[in-house]
Amino acid sequence: NHTKNIAILGSTGSIGTQTLEVIRNNSNLFRAFLLTAHSNADLLIKQAIEFKPEYAIICDESKYQEVKTALTHLPIKVLAGHQAIVDTVTHHDIAVVLTAMVGFAGLEPTIAAIKANKDIALANKETLVVAGELVTGLAKQHNVKILPVDSEHSAIFQCLVGEEHNPVEKLILTASGGPFRGRGLDFLANVTREDALKHPNWVMGAKITVDSASLMNKGLEVIEARWLFDVGADQIDVVIHPQSIIHSMAQFKDGSIKAQMGLPDMKLPIQYALTYPNRIANDFKRFNFTDYPTLTFEKPDLDTFRNLSLAYAALKQGGNMPCIINAANEVVVAGFLSHSVSFLAMSTIIEECMQKINFIKQPTLTDYLNTDKETRIFAQNLIEKTPVKAIQ
Ligand code: NDP
Ligand code: MG
Repeated sequence: NHTKNIAILGSTGSIGTQTLEVIRNNSNLFRAFLLTAHSNADLLIKQAIEFKPEYAIICDESKYQEVKTALTHLPIKVLAGHQAIVDTVTHHDIAVVLTAMVGFAGLEPTIAAIKANKDIALANKETLVVAGELVTGLAKQHNVKILPVDSEHSAIFQCLVGEEHNPVEKLILTASGGPFRGRGLDFLANVTREDALKHPNWVMGAKITVDSASLMNKGLEVIEARWLFDVGADQIDVVIHPQSIIHSMAQFKDGSIKAQMGLPDMKLPIQYALTYPNRIANDFKRFNFTDYPTLTFEKPDLDTFRNLSLAYAALKQGGNMPCIINAANEVVVAGFLSHSVSFLAMSTIIEECMQKINFIKQPTLTDYLNTDKETRIFAQNLIEKTPVKAIQ
């Protein structure tokens, strides 16, 4: 039996469903062993019926009976709650844990999986933002691989194959610039949730789509790159590349730059994370140079899109500062999605959290959990105090 058992945390999301597509097309290579959802019971049930995993876990315990009843005729173990995920990712038969849930919720399951010597296919970038040093340290200690799923990091990872003895001089992360590229503060003052959710090149979950519009996604990715590739903040550049064809680049000490290219399609980095170091054939649409006669590049506008500067600042300060920025961002994005925070107020609130929350230079896991809680409460209070101009 040569199939690799994959645990998919967040199987009902954008990355999760695309991972299942990759597995469906390569059922000789992979088996979906564990599927998890937050509260989308319908889709979890549908996926479980098709893929027959060993385990299906729903975070929202009020949906447990519904899932259990629907799957009762199948040999699938149904569990509920966050702790069930943390406990089950350690299962002996799992080879790779693909982390595709959103936000801080990914931290504890990822740590549990690493401690159980599972390789991680990491989409959940927030985990490395919050606790990059701790998580990459544990991965080294347990000799497990962290295989990037994020397209930029997968691109760099692919550029670094065969370059193990050549330290990079610089990493160049590309960013599409999102739906508000080129816009000024006057325009951003009035953008709505619906405007922000129209990403030009990628279809993704709501949180990361808002992060892309505010450039926080690129800020989180700078921090993610720092830990994945062990480089300093000053070795990571961001360039706006609106066509999203070059997914990112690595520059070596002789000045040579390698780029990884292709049409924007997350199934490729997902597949590569699962098949590394091998590549397997697929029928994904191929890139054609003559369809894209011009690939263009611009400097990011850091004065308008302040989140990117805030993320660099958090990375340079270190300690629990990236955890603070992540928690504050999760709260303001949820607020923006529910029309209770304006687009520009997101950066203001994040910055205030960075100034006011207790800074810890060398945080433990408990410190991260506390910082996350504390920051969420503080940010939520700021939201309630900040008058929102009618944004509909
Ligand atoms: P989605 O919102 O589409 O999906 C999120 C998944 O996680 C769903 O299965 C959801 O369950 C589950 N989930 C949400 N909140 C929790 C929670 N608190 N605890 C447990 N499970 C939870 O997100 P995406 O797929 O877009 O993104 C997932 C991760 O991948 C993020 O970290 C994102 O930054 C990263 N990523 C995504 C890319 C993309 O193209 N989408 C590209 C690069 C990185 P339910 O459906 O029940 O709500
Ligand atoms: Mg990305």
